[in-house]
Amino acid sequence: MYARPTTVDAALSLLAENRWTVLAGGTDFYPGLRDRAVNEAVLDISAVEGLRGIRRDDDDGWRIGALTTWSDVITADLPPAFDALKLAAREVGSVQIQNRATVAGNICNASPAADGVPPLLALDAVVETDSAQGKRQVALSDFVLGNRATALRPDEIVTGFAIPAGAAQGRSHFIKLGARKYLVISIAMVAARLEAGDGGKVGDARVSVGACSAVAQRMEGLEQALIGKPCDETLAGIVSPAHFGPLSPIDDVRASTGYRSEAACELVRRGLLGCLP
Ligand SMILES: Cc1cc2nc3c(=O)[nH]c(=O)nc-3n(C[C@H](O)[C@H](O)[C@H](O)COP(=O)(O)OP(=O)(O)OC[C@H]3O[C@@H](n4cnc5c(N)ncnc54)[C@H](O)[C@@H]3O)c2cc1C
Repeated sequence: MYARPTTVDAALSLLAENRWTVLAGGTDFYPGLRDRAVNEAVLDISAVEGLRGIRRDDDDGWRIGALTTWSDVITADLPPAFDALKLAAREVGSVQIQNRATVAGNICNASPAADGVPPLLALDAVVETDSAQGKRQVALSDFVLGNRATALRPDEIVTGFAIPAGAAQGRSHFIKLGARKYLVISIAMVAARLEAGDGGKVGDARVSVGACSAVAQRMEGLEQALIGKPCDETLAGIVSPAHFGPLSPIDDVRASTGYRSEAACELVRRGLLGCLP
């Protein structure tokens, strides 16, 4: 069974009646089939109107539509707080993938190596879902529950991401480490966002690390340690391995646990320096 609704309401009615697999850009869905034929009911939401694009909501911050592609992110006119998201967008596969692949697809696929998660955590992103039962808003940190596991219910779709006005402040940076420079799965990636406070000090900070635990995580202890410190190169010296306790890097073909741990620490130092003017 295959359906391609053009409105959110039509998509939600179908989801209320049946069990479907949602399809957006298909860049995770199709490779995930491997040699298997499609034998599930597929709800293709790629033609649903109104879910694509990034817009400013007057007082409420920004909204990223679920069907926004990574290429859309790259070309959008956004404040410097979104630089990390733009840098991540350039690292998602190749240009062909970026033209098809959507932001929501990356988050709903819930890979530990999803490059979109750390920069969206650094923007305090809130996931917006909809179903015949009604809308929900879930903090991204509560939405991705584990490797390939999310808080999405079977009758829901993600409609977009809200970025609170207060989180769209400051400057941000993203760094991805892979076994080669391009078209590669992350060994580790970090996003950082710094807001300037009074007297050249850090007013607020976000630091998130991906591919070093089942779910990308904010380093909240480090964030607290950065607040109030001079907003200059000395920030890198504050970062210590002790701040990375929440991580549990795996040992796999791409990198060892020890390598991932050291890489995360060094990438965060560089990521913070990348936020400086
Ligand atoms: C060659 C190649 C290279 C890649 N490189 C990278 C990379 O470097 N970094 C990276 O992070 N990813 C990479 N990917 C993975 C993929 O491109 C991204 O995760 C992409 O953003 C997925 O978006 P999509 O729209 O194609 O998702 P789809 O494949 O359409 O869907 C993915 C999952 O999300 C669900 N879903 C999608 N949209 C919604 C929605 N609105 N509501 C509810 N559920 C939804 C689907 O049901 C499915 O489970 C790569 C993929 C390929 C094929």
